[in-house]
Amino acid sequence: MRPEILFPLFAPVTSLPGIGPRLGKLMAKLVGDKVVSLCWHLPSGLIDRRLAPKLADAPEGTIVTLTLVVDGHVKPGNPRQPYKVRCRDETGFIHLVFFNARPDYLLSALPVGETRVVSGRVNRFDAELQMTHPDYIVPLADLPSLQRVEPVYPLTAGLTPKVLGKAIREALTRAPDLPEWADPAYLKRQGWSAWRASLQTLHQPEEERDLGLDTPARQRLAFDELLANQLALALVRARQRRMAGRRIVGSGQLQAKAVAALPFALTPSQKRSVAEIQADMAAESRMLRLLQGDVGSGKTVVALLAMLTAAESGSQAALLAPTEILARQHFATIEPLAAAAGVQIGLLTGSDKAKTREAVLSGLASGETSLAVGTHALFQEEVVFRDLALAVIDEQHRFGVHQRLMLAAKGHATDILVMTATPIPRTLMMTAYGDLDVSRLLEKPAGRQPIDTRAVPLERLDEVVTAVDRAVRTGARVYWVCPLVEESEAVDLAAAADRHAHLTQQFGRRVGLVHGRMKTAEKDKVMADFSTGELQILVATTVIEVGVDVPAATVMVIEHAERFGLAQLHQLRGRVGRGQQRSTCLLLYQPPLGETAKARLNILRETDDGFRIAEEDLRLRGAGELLGTRQSGMPEFHLADLAAHGDLLAAARDDARLILERDPDLSTTRGGALRTLLYLFERDAAVKTLRSG
Ligand code: ADP
Ligand code: MG
Repeated sequence: MRPEILFPLFAPVTSLPGIGPRLGKLMAKLVGDKVVSLCWHLPSGLIDRRLAPKLADAPEGTIVTLTLVVDGHVKPGNPRQPYKVRCRDETGFIHLVFFNARPDYLLSALPVGETRVVSGRVNRFDAELQMTHPDYIVPLADLPSLQRVEPVYPLTAGLTPKVLGKAIREALTRAPDLPEWADPAYLKRQGWSAWRASLQTLHQPEEERDLGLDTPARQRLAFDELLANQLALALVRARQRRMAGRRIVGSGQLQAKAVAALPFALTPSQKRSVAEIQADMAAESRMLRLLQGDVGSGKTVVALLAMLTAAESGSQAALLAPTEILARQHFATIEPLAAAAGVQIGLLTGSDKAKTREAVLSGLASGETSLAVGTHALFQEEVVFRDLALAVIDEQHRFGVHQRLMLAAKGHATDILVMTATPIPRTLMMTAYGDLDVSRLLEKPAGRQPIDTRAVPLERLDEVVTAVDRAVRTGARVYWVCPLVEESEAVDLAAAADRHAHLTQQFGRRVGLVHGRMKTAEKDKVMADFSTGELQILVATTVIEVGVDVPAATVMVIEHAERFGLAQLHQLRGRVGRGQQRSTCLLLYQPPLGETAKARLNILRETDDGFRIAEEDLRLRGAGELLGTRQSGMPEFHLADLAAHGDLLAAARDDARLILERDPDLSTTRGGALRTLLYLFERDAAVKTLRSG
């Protein structure tokens, strides 16, 4: 249960005065629908009204707050001219200028002979001092309240600065003093104030630098958010550890047979990763390990060897792929090796024939089939394993945590290995998994050549087609990826179909098309034809983004490269450069390029180091967007900025670990405060893992 002290913060925004359903909806769209969401909406700028000069000293172009006596109203001669009000102080005159004025309002706001405080930007027009549409006109008594710094907030259409500013000020008055959850010594060392004071400070910037990511107030709140994140992860991990694991130890015999059947030697990192995974499987506790390797680094073989360890121990292993193409491809890679080891393997996808399916299901249920590869068809209820000891999940960010657990639930104390080609930066990984164990494939398999990467404007399409023609004549295999149009598969498809038609005119039947809406059998046929060389050019939507492996492909054309994210471009490019030959990647873009798009294409040209690319991507885009979608399973932060607050993240992780060592149930006074912190950042689920939650 959420602690009562937080109730005011979790009330709907519509509970604030003046916020009805219409404004409530706008705010929900901009920041969120709770009072606390407004507290997290930080100023992006400020307006300083503290400067209160005499007229003679008022600097042009600056915002000032003036105390003036109203001299007289100058009504316009014709409606196109502005309405002016002449004011003075003891040093000079100024005209307040109003277009489309309402005279009765102005007469009452600025009565002749009276003193008013006026705030706005002063300018000079024909040697005459002017202020056009002052921001504020108030009686003298309000001078102190006016002469301050106003925060400026990011807005959304339909929401005015005044309305949003007022709502946020109201929201801040609802923020209670919360019990201190941070370690007092750490607070002191950092020179941080309490939570509420820090929050208020953030909303009252005095100088530009108060808006920065490195002010004590911002750091404090970022730390709080990261601590909530790390503590939540640590709690979930602690629960996972409490669930007993089991020891899975193999003889190494099946592995040795599979390795002997490989046409290549394993890289040092592949060997090390296999050893790390085996050590985890052999331990009492449950494995939760990430196998991270750039595209083409050879994760599949590592997965297979781990799976064979399970088979050697007499239990079973399953490999879950995000798409059917990938599941089939993994199967195609693994099956001959499994056969060499004398191990039975089954494939399960959504479109299997009933008869094959039954055979696979019964093999898995009896245990005769040791290994399974499949899509989420593996989750279905009829799928029963005799003894599933290891679940390998490929390209995990496509799956939610929930699905991960569903597969694990099919076994008893199932070890989990997550494979990802997305080189998630360390910082981001820590926020998503906490102290997840990680194996990394650092080097590419031997003999790989760097990919020649070039950016070409779309108007030079003809030259690209000529280059493709030249390549095709030498027998090359070419991917041609078509524009990603946001959230519209239908439009993606149309673009790909058009390009396919266009290239077919030129190249005839050597051009194939593959997209997400095709039936599986059709897709498989096209992919197989491309793989054998029957088709030389494969026009594709981004379905080929993940994992497809055709080592003979050497040319990658990406149309409208400016619309793709950096990580995605890197993934796409990774489809070539897998064999011994030199490969080329042509990034076709539509000029003019924005700054970010330009930076992205440049980085790609400079490096093919996935980790560097991911770090740059993080810098360019921010963590929330890094993996392309909000459903990426990566947490989003309101206050923390991973690019800037990496050291705070490390501190939060260490703190979380220490906290749970000393107070695993969060039952001390500080523990109680930490529970409040978890609720404040809506990590309610983590609190529920506590035995006395
Ligand atoms: P990814 O990590 O992108 O999933 P894959 O597992 O698909 O990579 O492997 C990419 C290609 O590299 C495959 O054709 C695979 O057979 C090959 N490969 C894997 N390991 C090695 C190695 N040690 N030496 C040479 N080629 C390898
Ligand atoms: Mg792969």
